[in-house]
Amino acid sequence: MNLAVIGFGNAGGKIADRLLAFERETGRSLSAFAMAVNAAAIDLEKLEEIPEAKRLLIGQTHEQVKGRGAGADPELGAEVTRQDLNEIERALDGVPLHAVDGFLVVAGLGGGTGSGGAPVLAERLRETYEEPVYGLGVMPGSAEGGRASLNAARSLQSFTNATDNLMLFDNDAWRSTDDSIEGGYQRTNQELARRFVTLLAAGEIDGSQVSESAMDSSDIRRTLSTGGVSTIAYSEATVERETRKSQGLLGRLSTNGHDEQESENSDLPMKIHGLVRKAVQSRLTCPADVSSAERALIVISGPPREFSQKGIQRARQWLEQETQSVEVLAGDDPRQDADHLSACVLLSNVTDVPRVDQLQEQAVGAQDSIDDQAATREDEIDELITDDQNRLDPV
Ligand code: GDP
Repeated sequence: MNLAVIGFGNAGGKIADRLLAFERETGRSLSAFAMAVNAAAIDLEKLEEIPEAKRLLIGQTHEQVKGRGAGADPELGAEVTRQDLNEIERALDGVPLHAVDGFLVVAGLGGGTGSGGAPVLAERLRETYEEPVYGLGVMPGSAEGGRASLNAARSLQSFTNATDNLMLFDNDAWRSTDDSIEGGYQRTNQELARRFVTLLAAGEIDGSQVSESAMDSSDIRRTLSTGGVSTIAYSEATVERETRKSQGLLGRLSTNGHDEQESENSDLPMKIHGLVRKAVQSRLTCPADVSSAERALIVISGPPREFSQKGIQRARQWLEQETQSVEVLAGDDPRQDADHLSACVLLSNVTDVPRVDQLQEQAVGAQDSIDDQAATREDEIDELITDDQNRLDPV
């Protein structure tokens, strides 16, 4: 797929930046257009891949914001986004509509600008364009506290409703105790980029490599067309020695034309089937009960000589059983020079996601204590500033 990628807020911008870096590093092509939108000037300055001309500062004239961000207040994030929607739309005039399959709006759900602003933008994009609008939403870690959970649980509702599909990444599932916060984000953003780019860029090849069952962007679109939220599974294995040899120039000349013969290697079907099982059974971008998915899609990516139709079919049948879904699509994505073979699985419209329930519980608790505090605050101030017997008068 080719997408117009818009990173909204701090996490959104950093992640969009990381997606571009991953594309560059692996020679893949996902974003036909990329842009960052933020209410905090300082966050936009930190980006490396998104060119300066494609970084838009919103809320500059807003009294409370003035380039300093929305202060983890999604209402404010939504307000400044609404206020500056025309400006955002003008910047989107640069999207090469003939070359994109859809939009991808990326945001962290626990803050203010992305949490409040991304759903507002997604809704407008859906009203304006015919192309599908996808979301990539990052759920906060539980250690971030009640306010982040409350923001995320509320944003999750509006972002899901405003998009054709909201793909989730759960920081809680990906945190590591020995990381610094920013170091941890760098690591998780890389893992996130690996999964999203490998999946969504499948099929975008320069035309020189053909394969029997190449993944097509319409397969991905179809799988995502369920609505709801989705999660992604991934695993990889190094390529065989023979493949590595064939990737050298001499080797490639000598095996030229023998790819089909190689793919009859009896271990390859097992390798592919095993990779898909391993992916689905390991950490998903957002943990979910696989059997609750409505549709699924498998992408096997790597050197074509490691592909096996038999393996892909077996993996597809296995996943059909696991998801109890009739609709599991599978295909490959040839990457001649890749040093590993990977399996990426999109589980679309998963409805059993314990982390969302947990987030909502934490959010309700936070909402209650915010309400309680608001109700008693006036009394507490009053009590503080008046003497015990109320014998003093204010001046
Ligand atoms: P905003 O700028 O107001 O939208 O807020 P941020 O994007 O700074 O933060 C929103 C949420 O995103 C936080 O609560 C974190 O959970 C998450 N977050 C912030 N930075 C990163 C990052 O680099 N990677 C990931 N995975 N999550 C992040």
